[in-house]
Amino acid sequence: LDATEIAALRERFPILAREMNGHPLVYLDSGATSQRPIEVIDAERDYATHQNAAVHRGAHLLAAEATELFEDARATVAAFIGADERELVWTSGATAALNLIAGAIGTASAGLGGAAAERFRLGPGDEIVVTELEHHANLIPWQQLAARTGATLRHLPVDDNGVLRLEAAGDVISERTRIIAFAHVSNVTGAIAPVSELVALAERVGALTVLDACQSVPHLPVDVASLGVDFLVFSGHKMLGPNGIGALWGRRRLLDALPPFLTGGSMITTVTLDGAEFLPAPQRFEAGTQPVSQAIALASAVRFLQAVGMDRIHATEAAYGQRLAAGLAAIPGITLIGPPPGTPRAGLASFDLAGVHAHDVGQFFDDRGIAVRVGHHCAQPLHRRLGLTASTRASSYLYTTEAEIDAFLDAATLVGPFFGVSR
Ligand code: PMP
Repeated sequence: LDATEIAALRERFPILAREMNGHPLVYLDSGATSQRPIEVIDAERDYATHQNAAVHRGAHLLAAEATELFEDARATVAAFIGADERELVWTSGATAALNLIAGAIGTASAGLGGAAAERFRLGPGDEIVVTELEHHANLIPWQQLAARTGATLRHLPVDDNGVLRLEAAGDVISERTRIIAFAHVSNVTGAIAPVSELVALAERVGALTVLDACQSVPHLPVDVASLGVDFLVFSGHKMLGPNGIGALWGRRRLLDALPPFLTGGSMITTVTLDGAEFLPAPQRFEAGTQPVSQAIALASAVRFLQAVGMDRIHATEAAYGQRLAAGLAAIPGITLIGPPPGTPRAGLASFDLAGVHAHDVGQFFDDRGIAVRVGHHCAQPLHRRLGLTASTRASSYLYTTEAEIDAFLDAATLVGPFFGVSR
């Protein structure tokens, strides 16, 4: 994307015109949540204004219109990741999607779901593998599942930069491994996981793969068929969409064999006082009233991204990632976390400033209108491994300008001296 194109794109995002603390807003926190274009804001408003009704239930025309929009949104979002719409389950976000998959495997492990659920049953002796760099959302549900089933949770280690040590995978992944859950792109380091290698290792031992695609689906072309994973999750609010919507994608034969997690209305065929029969996927996982306006707005966000082009968004952000990494690595006192400059990374970078708490660093940037994320970024084990309690992260998106990256780097050169850090 060139500067003219980005300037035109920015016109669609009213919030980017705001001033913060007397400075133009430099929003470098899209990794936490992205901003929404007018198209997405309007999609929610238009639905509420003209079509709002209960989907899949009403016998009236308004309900039929709402249902059609809701299911069209599913088809749009599914196609965006190369999936069939019957494989896309709406959730409130990635956290809910990961809890759904872990919870449903827990249900299967408790003996429910009949013969079809056999392959999901976990017990003592079985192993679940995660990585040391996971977001808590892709760690704690697996800890809980292990505790509930008696399975063992193991982890793939990272190196001193926080980058996955694939060479250690052979020691961790074995015939006992039943599930491998990992992030496609780390929300802390921006490193891109070796998906095909991990999928090949999983296939060799017959393990299921679960990909946390929160930081990839918004930023790079993602095609579930070529990734080869079994399940994948992402959140709408990180990809120009609203809060309260996300998705679980799963291979159809797996989703249809998996028992439900949440139960209630809209997910059944027949119910008696003693039991219930469930609809096939995706409905069997969508109990209760769904986030309809959010789903429709997410489809609008997807169309916006497609109109710009995911390849071009990725290329632009990859260049920002390199600029951030090289710029930060050159500043005395600052330690860049993640892949060294020159190696692939997404459009984000985190750093530590020796001797200064990340919250003070964040305040310094905020005083200059620059919004960055500080803290452990929901990845405490990774920070502990790096000997840190917190770090500062700048993350870009399609509306980020090179001038903003440079404004951030200029401020980063001043933050150490400001706090009396010389080297
Ligand atoms: N995984 C990763 C890698 C993330 O970056 C995030 C959001 N910070 C999540 C999971 C959780 O997403 P959500 O809070 O939208 O459920």
